[in-house]
Amino acid sequence: MTKVKTFKNYINGKWKTSSGRETFDNVNPADTRQVVGRFQKSTRKDLNEAVAAADGALPAWRKTPAPQRGEILFRVAELLVKQKESLARNMTLEMGKIIKETRGDVQEAIDMAYYTAGEGRRMLGETVPSELKNKFSMSVRMPVGVVAAITPWNFPIAIPSWKLVPALVCGNTVVIKPASDTPLSVFSFVKLCEEAGLPPGVLNMVTGSGEDIGTPLIDHPDVDLVSFTGSTDTGSIVASHCAKQMKRYSLEMGGKNAIVVMDDADLNLALEGVLWGAFGTTGQRCTACSRVIVHKKVLKKFTTMLLERTRALRVGDGLNEKNEMGPLVNESQRQKVLNYCKIGVEEGGKLLTGGSYLSEKKYKNGFFFEPTLFADVSSKMRVAQEEIFGPVLSIISCSNLDHAVQIVNDSKFGLSSAIYTQDINRAFRAMESLDTGITYINSSTIGAEIQLPFGGTKGTGNGHREAGTAALEIFTEWKAVYVDYSGTLQKAQIEN
Ligand code: ADP
Repeated sequence: MTKVKTFKNYINGKWKTSSGRETFDNVNPADTRQVVGRFQKSTRKDLNEAVAAADGALPAWRKTPAPQRGEILFRVAELLVKQKESLARNMTLEMGKIIKETRGDVQEAIDMAYYTAGEGRRMLGETVPSELKNKFSMSVRMPVGVVAAITPWNFPIAIPSWKLVPALVCGNTVVIKPASDTPLSVFSFVKLCEEAGLPPGVLNMVTGSGEDIGTPLIDHPDVDLVSFTGSTDTGSIVASHCAKQMKRYSLEMGGKNAIVVMDDADLNLALEGVLWGAFGTTGQRCTACSRVIVHKKVLKKFTTMLLERTRALRVGDGLNEKNEMGPLVNESQRQKVLNYCKIGVEEGGKLLTGGSYLSEKKYKNGFFFEPTLFADVSSKMRVAQEEIFGPVLSIISCSNLDHAVQIVNDSKFGLSSAIYTQDINRAFRAMESLDTGITYINSSTIGAEIQLPFGGTKGTGNGHREAGTAALEIFTEWKAVYVDYSGTLQKAQIEN
């Protein structure tokens, strides 16, 4: 048997063992006999050290000219390009999603690094006319301070990159705590930042559980901003802790995303989009399609098409290029998905296919689950309201566009939506009335590009957006600057 490798924390430019000397195992969800790596079970002492390092590095980093900060991040992009394949393979090993998707995950970080590193030479503020003579008015962006980045397991490099790259280019320093299911990807990303020349203390990483070090990290008085992506339950803990200290925080949480298929849709195109949205990443994307709202005129036909293709999906180890869907990330996720399938049946949903663990011998050591399709679902059922985060799709019938929009919007979440139609008027009406942060026309609910804002309305977040230039609103504070060169005391609002 090969020896399992132990990975360390990264604090103040050094790779360090936890003061508690304990580790936890990161296993392959496709075959749990394989331990991918052993990671530090960090203590509060480690965490305090990491925050102190970030705090100590802040004055010099915020004074480093932003174009220089950007250049280091360009080098990060270049290293990501070089290591794309090995990063993708390791990500499939620890997280399970198929290799095509993990390559895409790394590509998203590459895009993010190239795009956002350029902010080092932009970071636009405003100049506006003053109401007084001999006075100049402008706004500039300032770093917020020490950022705590708390990241989930479903996009093990992409989501950390959405936080780290903008935070760093804007002059903040960071402590990142990755999800315990996918610490290897963040370890590799941090190592690459070290290689690119990031000074000690600017970026620090501690691994461990949410309760042990996640909450103390949020509560640490020297942390100025918490950037969180994860479940709604944990996001609400983050919000309440931050609110007590009047701390900045940004949250990206759940979704209950829907695709509308109108009677004039190209059904073959819609079919591809729905399958990709529902079963890509084994349904474990915050933008996954978990409801398909189909016009009653095409309901029967589309359901038949969907059932045939869902049954034919190839499930297995994500490293096998032929497989189209990998396992779920861990056993508790699998039990949660199974439980929702039982709830769906109890509520009167018609289980067309799936609903159970995959039982064949080749699946026995992994967290595999059948691609699942429910018909006859109504909007108020729990399977149509709650985030399942697994390969479970509910079919809901609608009678016209207004009805479809009403069903899409009947949700406490508002992340992503999509509509398939050939009618431009319907497309624009949908775009205007679907209450989500992202809407796709004739495409699936997944596939966001990093140059546009990412995030959602209602319970999906707290009003912030990641990626694009919108990320700057999270990772900088505005400063308004007035330069009076009149040599006299001029009084605004009084002397004009
Ligand atoms: P998921 O379903 O993606 O695991 P979580 O919200 O539980 O969603 O986890 C997202 C991130 O939040 C992970 O890094 C996790 O360790 C962290 N986390 C979990 N619980 C807490 C907590 N109480 N305080 C801070 N961070 C937490």
